[in-house]
Amino acid sequence: MKLLNIHSGVAGVYFPAGIDGTCENATKKCLKHCTALECEKSGKDTINTKDILYSFMTEPIYKLTEQIELELKELKTNIIFWFASGDCPEYFESKFYEIIKDSNWVNLIFTRNEHLWRKLTYLKSNKIIIIYSLDDIDELKKLSNSGRIAIPDYKTGNMRLYYLDYSRDCSGSKYDMKERNIKNMEINEDECQNCYKKDIGCFYQIDF
Ligand code: SF4
Repeated sequence: MKLLNIHSGVAGVYFPAGIDGTCENATKKCLKHCTALECEKSGKDTINTKDILYSFMTEPIYKLTEQIELELKELKTNIIFWFASGDCPEYFESKFYEIIKDSNWVNLIFTRNEHLWRKLTYLKSNKIIIIYSLDDIDELKKLSNSGRIAIPDYKTGNMRLYYLDYSRDCSGSKYDMKERNIKNMEINEDECQNCYKKDIGCFYQIDF
């Protein structure tokens, strides 16, 4: 039961991508540009994403945690990049939440699952960096929760990060949206481990 594979210098969790895989909230745009799907279709992918998902679905939480800790030691990292391919589907959400909430490692999570993003953001843990991926800025303005947002630029492979900050005014009657646009902050996923060591990128600049 191997759960992790190296990705950008950190340990990645790969699940099957696309609508037939685990991406319940995929959009037309992301499906069109998805590199994980491309990789799956090309047949060059050596990672058995279906087996990994099966292990996560069937093994008990304590066993998964033990196995993850063992593999992190072997890979010499304490960061997990969740959903390096695929996403967190609804049927896996509560188990995933349990694995993550008391974990000893750092969790970097990009997801299109809004419910999961809200639940994990609410924990305000410095070991959980969860970022909600959206296709454009107009969708961001419709959100009613604080948290980290990413808008990918599929042409360059980079993404723009935002921290959306809602605060209630003293009358309690309305919310104010303060959109903190991290200007020119474009992240390339290849830099995860380096950013973590240097305290930059989504590990630092959009922290709250
Ligand atoms: S959600 Fe992510 S992994 Fe899934 S299809 Fe869209 S870009 Fe690909």
